[in-house]
Amino acid sequence: MTRVAGPLHLTAQETARFTPPAGVAPRSPLTRDCTACGACCAAPDIHALGKPLGVPCVNLGPDQGCGHLCAVYDTRPGVCRAYQPDWVCGEVAPLPTLEARVRRFLTIYGLQDEAGL
Ligand code: SF4
Ligand code: SF4
Repeated sequence: MTRVAGPLHLTAQETARFTPPAGVAPRSPLTRDCTACGACCAAPDIHALGKPLGVPCVNLGPDQGCGHLCAVYDTRPGVCRAYQPDWVCGEVAPLPTLEARVRRFLTIYGLQDEAGL
């Protein structure tokens, strides 16, 4: 596997995944690590879990001060295990509330109207 030189030693594929699309100005340097902010467990619809758009997963715990943690992390479904952080995390994770993170997440994907925001 070829790695790109730099402090994070990202592969070219990882670098592409953490790079915002053209026309999107990144607001945060956070682009790689999952900080358990909870946005991806609340914003998207997850059919495998029967979770509607914009509604927090029933397994998403309360705010821990630094984010929201999954209550069933060790046995979480495959769809959750397969989820990979990307540049959107850098956009949502620094925001102060889960509501703000969900709103930003859905806006990025153009789903704010569908979610009734
Ligand atoms: S949106 Fe990104 S940073 Fe937030 S919990 Fe999900 S993977 Fe982690
Ligand atoms: S099961 Fe856990 S990881 Fe999966 S969406 Fe729910 S809270 Fe998130």
